[in-house]
Amino acid sequence: MRIAMIGTGYVGLVSGACFADFGHDVCCIDKDGSKIDALNAGRMPIWEPGLESLVKANAERGRLTFTTDLPSGVEGAEAVFIAVGTPARRGDGHADLSFVYGAVRELAGVIKPGTAVVTKSTVPVGTGDEIEKILREEGVTDVSVASNPEFLREGAAIADFKHPDRIVVGAEDERAQHVLREIYRPLFLNRAPILFTGRRTAELTKYAANAFLAVKISFINEIADLCEAVDADVQDVARGIGLDNRIGPKFLHAGPGYGGSCFPKDTLALLQTAEKAGVDQRIVRTTVQVNDDRKASMVDRVEAALGGALAGKRIGILGLAFKPNTDDMRDAPSIPLVKALVERGAEVVAFDPVAREQAEKVLSGIEFVSSAQAAVRQADALVVVTEWDEFRALDLDKVAAAMRGKVLVDLRNVYDREEAEQAGLAYHGVGRGRRASAS
Ligand code: NAD
Repeated sequence: MRIAMIGTGYVGLVSGACFADFGHDVCCIDKDGSKIDALNAGRMPIWEPGLESLVKANAERGRLTFTTDLPSGVEGAEAVFIAVGTPARRGDGHADLSFVYGAVRELAGVIKPGTAVVTKSTVPVGTGDEIEKILREEGVTDVSVASNPEFLREGAAIADFKHPDRIVVGAEDERAQHVLREIYRPLFLNRAPILFTGRRTAELTKYAANAFLAVKISFINEIADLCEAVDADVQDVARGIGLDNRIGPKFLHAGPGYGGSCFPKDTLALLQTAEKAGVDQRIVRTTVQVNDDRKASMVDRVEAALGGALAGKRIGILGLAFKPNTDDMRDAPSIPLVKALVERGAEVVAFDPVAREQAEKVLSGIEFVSSAQAAVRQADALVVVTEWDEFRALDLDKVAAAMRGKVLVDLRNVYDREEAEQAGLAYHGVGRGRRASAS
């Protein structure tokens, strides 16, 4: 099949490269000339494990091309996917659909009859209807508009795309269903469940999934607070509940609050949809509040661990990206923490294995260093913000010896309290009471 992918970011590039790997002929289109130039020169605009070799292999086979020119990119395409950004609109949190509708208007002038237009971007309920309306207004009638929300996770995006828990297709006609079934045939053969629904249902399913995961994270974060107050261990509580099949073990890691390019904006957008529909979503509304408060309060944890004063203290930060294995800094919990540390007079020295370039765009007044050891050196406190694997392997004796103070604030519960204390560090995890251990 010939596929065009409008928007070549995290989702568009990964989806395009994977579709090409399935054997389709894919053209990825983006307005950002620097991204397309980089891709045409074999350089990846984002950091995602396994992406570079996948892109190069399929580009060499001639199945994956890149362009800034939408008309030539969509020429002959049987399906045009829209994978542009849908950030939160400033002020009200509604999904900003200007990129989606902008792409649709450009498409209207060049699309051939019979094409399937498929939203892969996360879009509010009714966006497919609006796309259909715009196309009709532009004189395009014989196209099928479908919704195929994407569930991949950054950091594991290729594996998620190729082995999805499910594929959701919202289509109002047979033709769109047929096109999407053909496109996903290789996964279908691998028995990945494909769920066909109405278009509006598919649009809502994506928001419901992200909101549910956000609720799960905020739930365990509140339980962590309770664990601290009553001397219990949230890791054991999470394991104790997660082994229950009805609950499941994932997304039960207490920490500094969720961030990233999806949960914060998608929970807000769901609330906007609910408000417009006149249906309150109290659980999601509270989750947003709980998470905002949590991110804002992390600085207090560091301050308390240091005995109540941050001014003049040297704080080593390990990890800036919103999670490991990505360079994505969008809404990362590190941002409010680092900003507040600087505001309260701390001297911040930060290291992230891959996100430095992105972090430099959003954080100022701090020193970026190129190794964990450099962040540790002469620090009064060390704060683990992102749980990169390489931090798990740090020798805590050496860490303690290199530091000026001995405070370790482990916002991801990477280390064992006993081991840290044996190294001479004052350990502050999340949700791990003093008397919590079984031994
Ligand atoms: P991104 O910001 O990384 O990429 C979007 C790209 O679209 C940019 O490169 C931008 O230049 C391009 N673009 C915007 N308007 C365009 C136009 N008219 N023509 C061509 N290109 C255009 O965004 P992303 O993280 O890939 O997210 C895309 C969508 O997928 C969002 O709706 C997001 O919510 C959703 N999503 C993201 C993830 C994720 O983990 N990042 C996962 C699932 C779903």
